[in-house]
Amino acid sequence: MEFEFFRYPEKFAYRVDEPKPCSVCSKIELCFDAGGYPGINDIDCICSACLKAGALIELEIEPNMNFDDGSPAAETITYKTPGLPTWQDTGWPMINGKFPIFECIASAEDFTDKNDFLSSFLEEDQTKDDIEWLWDRLPKKKLNHYNEGGDISVYLFSLEGKKYWIWDAN
Ligand SMILES: [Zn+2]
Repeated sequence: MEFEFFRYPEKFAYRVDEPKPCSVCSKIELCFDAGGYPGINDIDCICSACLKAGALIELEIEPNMNFDDGSPAAETITYKTPGLPTWQDTGWPMINGKFPIFECIASAEDFTDKNDFLSSFLEEDQTKDDIEWLWDRLPKKKLNHYNEGGDISVYLFSLEGKKYWIWDAN
């Protein structure tokens, strides 16, 4: 299962609990849970092949929000990528006109130290001083599944070898 912008969908994308028929093609697999995907139409779940092939474009269902610049990358993230496992409607970040890859829900192990953590924060409305406290709230060990996270999550992205993160709380 490979998605250009979502590194570990088997760990960090919302999926159904047990194999179910894909709402689009009826293939039975551990589909992505599409119940929370916003859009014109509603479906229960979608298999990885249908998601990658862009079946959600016609259904006008958008797993991810982003700054839609009309590029193929924006379309891939909006329609052909599992939804970010966030609580709020969190837009996919854009860095210098490019979209980063979602790596994981971060733990302290994903950073060399607090300085590395703070320097990779993607500043938008908040500054590094505002979010310094988050370092102490990070899980200590690397997460293997989104359900190992707590009520506060740091979403780690990468672009051209650099780390960037945003955060969200329940
Ligand atoms: Zn399918």
